[in-house]
Amino acid sequence: MGARSGNNYLTALRKLNAETYLSGERVGDVTIHPAFQNCARSIASLYDMQMEHPEAMTFRTEDGGRAGMSFIQPRNSDELRKRSRMMKSWADYGCGFLGRTPDYLNVSIAAMAAAHEFFGESDPRFGRNIQDYYRNARDHDWCATHTLVNPRASRAQGWAGHTDADLALKLVDKTDKGIIVSGCRMLATLAPMSEELLVFPSTVLKAEPAAEPFALSFAIQCNTKGLKFLCRDPYDLGRSKFDHPLSSRFEEMDCVVIFDGVEVPWERVFLCGDVARCNALYAATNAVVHMMHQVVVKNVAKSEFLLGLVARIAEVSDAMALQHVRERLAETIMTVETMRSSLRAAEADASLDKWGVCAPARPPLDTARNLFPHLYPRLVEIIQLNSSSSLMATPSEADFTNSNERPYIDRYFGTADANARDRVALYRLAWDVACSSFGGRQVLYERFFFGDPVRMASALVDNTDLKPLTDRVQSFLTRLD
Ligand SMILES: Cc1cc2nc3c(=O)[nH]c(=O)nc-3n(C[C@H](O)[C@H](O)[C@H](O)COP(=O)(O)OP(=O)(O)OC[C@H]3O[C@@H](n4cnc5c(N)ncnc54)[C@H](O)[C@@H]3O)c2cc1C
Repeated sequence: MGARSGNNYLTALRKLNAETYLSGERVGDVTIHPAFQNCARSIASLYDMQMEHPEAMTFRTEDGGRAGMSFIQPRNSDELRKRSRMMKSWADYGCGFLGRTPDYLNVSIAAMAAAHEFFGESDPRFGRNIQDYYRNARDHDWCATHTLVNPRASRAQGWAGHTDADLALKLVDKTDKGIIVSGCRMLATLAPMSEELLVFPSTVLKAEPAAEPFALSFAIQCNTKGLKFLCRDPYDLGRSKFDHPLSSRFEEMDCVVIFDGVEVPWERVFLCGDVARCNALYAATNAVVHMMHQVVVKNVAKSEFLLGLVARIAEVSDAMALQHVRERLAETIMTVETMRSSLRAAEADASLDKWGVCAPARPPLDTARNLFPHLYPRLVEIIQLNSSSSLMATPSEADFTNSNERPYIDRYFGTADANARDRVALYRLAWDVACSSFGGRQVLYERFFFGDPVRMASALVDNTDLKPLTDRVQSFLTRLD
């Protein structure tokens, strides 16, 4: 089939009927459920963009069909930049607030398939499996979620390689047909709107036989028997797009994932029991770099949108001349430019990796992904500081239709630069970024979704060649003149 339409996606989702629970009830058809339907429609719109702009958003596959551009295995920097532009269009559609547009995982599957030898060295079947899975995912244009982190009951054993054996997802049996897994994984964002669940290792496992049952990498359909998704409270409260401009469109949902004796067919297993390869997977296949690429594109889109918002708030409140407002605007501009520069540098310094894929340079992307968890909460703080009580002076859409209230709203809420309705719409948007549960979750997401910031910083140190610089310092110290 190749690149799909939004309608194709919604039809597939309707048929899926995965075992998803929300507020004590089994969710039926997510495409008409109030908590999920709007986000499902937003994802569908992303797929429709592929239909509307095939040249920009799809590529020709070896069999002559057209697949979504995020599945491309870029062989040169032109293809990499095309993918980047396509990802930017999707990120802009969600104003950066849809973190899990399907490209996030598509780029990682593409990278892993290109690095199939990495899996094949563990077991030749696994090398073929990842290639077949990539082609299937690409040709069906599947929407996937993923889950990496095991839950933890206690930190008593420290974090380096210890899993809580009774909680964590683990291998319990092997049959002719596949592997049987049970246990729990913390969080799969977008799970109710996804068709596929990718299970990859994240936490570094200890190199010891006891860790082998936890060393797993596979993919399953979200409606596989024994697989259950437990949702948090929804932030789409069914209000109008005027009232909740972001949460009524981009509520991705996060779920805890329960595996109760789930059978994973052998053809969907990519690694099993290979601790060393599980620990090396993301770096060795370069999947992490391609995911960082998608993430930094999203960071550009999100920070640009917030810069527009901060600037518009300054205009509407007639505060553009105030020095502290300008200083905060400058800070927001610096965030945008830092993300743009990192992206541009990574693409300018892209090179072919050992798998023949054109990969963006890691250091600028790594810098951006380490910075953004610190910069994003500050952007939200700037919106709060520059808006203050206007974030609370936000009558709802219904208030505008009430003839008793309307004259007062029109009289007291307008500014020199915006009528009452435009001003309220703006501050409702600012509220959804900076004060709502949706906005709070966005801050948490940016702090943690790509991993624990402490370990991400540590990886940056590991991946930076410090020797030439320490040598330079040493050499300076020994200079006699
Ligand atoms: C909104 C959201 C969406 C997410 N979506 C997904 C998803 O779709 N798929 C997925 O796989 N994961 C997802 N995650 C999970 C994410 O990968 C993890 O949050 C991240 O890896 C950190 O792990 P953790 O939450 O277990 O934090 P922990 O490891 O429990 O860390 C919590 C805090 O304690 C600190 N800490 C932990 N151990 C120590 C120690 N020994 N010493 C000192 N400090 C310590 C950490 O630095 C951190 O500040 C999501 C997270 C969020 C918040």
